[in-house]
Amino acid sequence: MDFSTPATLVPILETMRTVMETDVLPLESKFGHTGLLTTILPDLRRIRDRVKSLGLWAPQLHKHLGGMGLSLVEHACVSEVLGRSPLGHYAFNCQAPDAGNMEILEMFGTPEQKERFLGPLVRGEVRSCFAMTEPELAGSNPTSLATAARADGDDYVIDGHKWFTTGADGAAFAIVMAVTDPSAPPHARASQIIVPTSTPGWRIVRNISVMGHAGDDWASHSEVRLEGVRVPKSHRIGEEGSGFLIAQERLGPGRIHHAMRWMGMCERSFELMCRRASTRELSPGKVLGTKQTIQNWIAESRAEINAARLMILHAAWKMQNEGAYAAREEISLIKFFAADVLGKVVDRALQTHGALGLTDDTVLASFYRFERAARIYDGPDEVHKGVVAKRILKGFGVAVK
Ligand SMILES: Cc1cc2nc3c(=O)[nH]c(=O)nc-3n(C[C@H](O)[C@H](O)[C@H](O)COP(=O)(O)OP(=O)(O)OC[C@H]3O[C@@H](n4cnc5c(N)ncnc54)[C@H](O)[C@@H]3O)c2cc1C
Repeated sequence: MDFSTPATLVPILETMRTVMETDVLPLESKFGHTGLLTTILPDLRRIRDRVKSLGLWAPQLHKHLGGMGLSLVEHACVSEVLGRSPLGHYAFNCQAPDAGNMEILEMFGTPEQKERFLGPLVRGEVRSCFAMTEPELAGSNPTSLATAARADGDDYVIDGHKWFTTGADGAAFAIVMAVTDPSAPPHARASQIIVPTSTPGWRIVRNISVMGHAGDDWASHSEVRLEGVRVPKSHRIGEEGSGFLIAQERLGPGRIHHAMRWMGMCERSFELMCRRASTRELSPGKVLGTKQTIQNWIAESRAEINAARLMILHAAWKMQNEGAYAAREEISLIKFFAADVLGKVVDRALQTHGALGLTDDTVLASFYRFERAARIYDGPDEVHKGVVAKRILKGFGVAVK
């Protein structure tokens, strides 16, 4: 068992850390104070150019597409470094949901779809979004969709209502999950269809206010209406009815990327907590860190981050070597375990900062506000716990549906 970071990755991570420290982190205060991404977009574009010139662009993508061609395990390590800031993944063009959309288009897209939609996305000229969840139906059961794509000659006409479509504000196109055959078995009813957002009938109702922040651009989640949206059938990705299959392909690596991004947030929060504990004086010469409660938080956080990190890297290694299907239990385990660790570590760091922790003068409030969602998106905790427990109980002869 070799726990060392691959030698080829060490200089890459070092350069990324430098870009994060010198370019990305200084932008955070503007992001945190205003919540308006548009005010820092010009600066972010400049950083993106620097990232490109350093050869660090799109680490998750194959080299022939203009990415770094890193393996899943390598990209997991990268994701941790970039996760130290809410702006990190965007700066390197591996932010959700674009990274997942790039992956889908690379794997399942036609040559025309790749040229028209994947190319500009990879080059960072446009952004995209992924519209599956609907307000009226339980997103935890993705087979229950009301959005319908009706065949009409060579076209589909799509009607539906979506929400929490991350990054829809300003996206050039959406990948929309819509029912193409309501009479098919549940997992074969839907297809993924590319909808340029300039198509008549695509309408953003609002950027949803999440914990008091509606955000904008890629840092937002929109409610969207599709009203008679007409697109050619050639915009369908893969076979008709393959929407769920393709969604599964997307979710596996995506969960590894997210979980390691959370580890980056954990490490940053941990460092802030330790720094505050060693400098904040309760009385002359007596810092917070002399108190056992704070010491417990530090020790518990260290243990939990280490445990989660090892579990994620193991899941990534298994997925890389044995495939997503073989690693499905490990992926479910890390999804709820790492999200829980994230919540606990950020909360302790925030508490250690007292009132300061609630302000936007540190990054902690932003982590707290936006990452509570980690326990809900890509499958809520309870769904993943159910998946794991059922598989285990099956080994004991219990057939739980
Ligand atoms: C920040 C954020 C970004 C998102 N981005 C996107 C996006 O870009 N595109 C997109 O399509 N969707 C997106 N989503 C939506 C997300 O995928 C759904 O919120 C998620 O699938 C859960 O669906 P739901 O919200 O309808 O909750 P519901 O399905 O209504 O579930 C509610 C709660 O019920 C419990 N529950 C559910 N199932 C079970 C079960 N089997 N056993 C026990 N308890 C259960 C859980 O506690 C769950 O939180 C995003 C969500 C968030 C919060």
